[in-house]
Amino acid sequence: RYPLEGKRVFVAGHRGMVGRALVRRLAHEPCEVVTAPRESVDLRRPEAVERWFVRARPDAVVLAAARVGGIAANQRRPATFLHDNLAIATSVIDAARVYGVERLLFLGSSCMYPREAAQPLSEAALMTGAPEPTNDGYATAKLAGWKLAETCRREHGCDFLTAIPTNLYGPGDTFDETDSHVVPALLQRFHRAKQAGARAVTVWGSGTPRREFLHVDDCADALVTVLTHADGARPVNVGTGADLPIAELARAIARVTGFEGELCFDTSKPDGMPRKRLDVSRLQALGWAPGIELEAGLADTYRAFLAGDTR
Ligand code: GDP
Repeated sequence: RYPLEGKRVFVAGHRGMVGRALVRRLAHEPCEVVTAPRESVDLRRPEAVERWFVRARPDAVVLAAARVGGIAANQRRPATFLHDNLAIATSVIDAARVYGVERLLFLGSSCMYPREAAQPLSEAALMTGAPEPTNDGYATAKLAGWKLAETCRREHGCDFLTAIPTNLYGPGDTFDETDSHVVPALLQRFHRAKQAGARAVTVWGSGTPRREFLHVDDCADALVTVLTHADGARPVNVGTGADLPIAELARAIARVTGFEGELCFDTSKPDGMPRKRLDVSRLQALGWAPGIELEAGLADTYRAFLAGDTR
C-alpha cells in the first residue's frame, strides 16, 4: 500500500484528457497535486524536467503525458509518436530516479500488446511478438517506457510501476476529423451529419474490429487504485474487460447524437488491430470495477463536446 496522505503528487500531462481527469480525481484524496506549466516545462527535454523536479520536489509521479492520436495520425507520423513518447518517458522517469521519487506510475497503452497475442490480453503476453504496424511507433515508445520503469526497479530499487489502459474516451478528448480516436471522431461526424440533415455517415474500416472502451473518469479512479494498492512488480491492465465491434459502437454513437441515417463502412481505411480486449483480473484483484456504462459515458462525452470541453 502507498497512502497518499500528505504526499506531493506530480501529474505529468495535466492538460491532457487523462491528466485532467486525474487532477479531478486526486482532489478527493488527502494529497497535494502539483503540475508543470506546459509553456515553461517541455517534458521531452531532460534539463527542463530536472529543473522542474528540483523546484517541485514531488513524492509521487503519475506519468500521463503523451503525444496521442488515432489510427491515421499514428500511421502518418510514426517517428513523431515514437520520438516524443520515448523522450517524455526517459526524461521524466530518469528525473524521478535521480530525485528520489517514492513511487511512479507510468501509463502504457493496450497497443503495446503483440498484434497476434491471445485474447484477452494478459500482462504476460507483453513482448512476445511484434505490435500492430499502424501504431508501432507509439507502441515501441510505451514498451520502452515500461521497461525503463521496470529496470529502474531492478537496478536501482525504485518503486516504479506501469498501468496499461485500454482505449480511453471522455470529456476533454481531441475532436478532429482525421487525427482523433474513433469515439471523438464519430461523435463529431454524426453530430455534423445530423445538423446537415445528411442521410449517411462514413465509418472507417470494416466495422468488425473489436475494441474495449473505458471512460476517462473510470480510468483516473482505477489509476488511483493502482497507485495506492498495486505491489508494482508487474504491470496492471486498466480496462473493463468487455469489448464490442466498431459497427456496434457506431450504432451507439448514432443513438447518442440522434442521427437516424445510414452507416457506410469505408474499407479503404485501416482496421488496425482485429481485437484488443484486456484481461483485467489483476485490476479486479485490487478491488476495482468500472462504474460508467458505455452508452452513458458516450452521452456524457457528447454533452462535453457540445459545451466546448475539447482540446
Ligand atoms: P486504435 O485502437 O489504435 O485502432 O485507435 P482508433 O480509435 O483510431 O481506431 C479504432 C478503430 O475504429 C479502428 O478499427 C478504426 O478503423 C475504426 N474507426 C472507424 N471510424 C473511425 C474514425 O472516424 N476515426 C478513427 N480514428 N477510427 C475509426
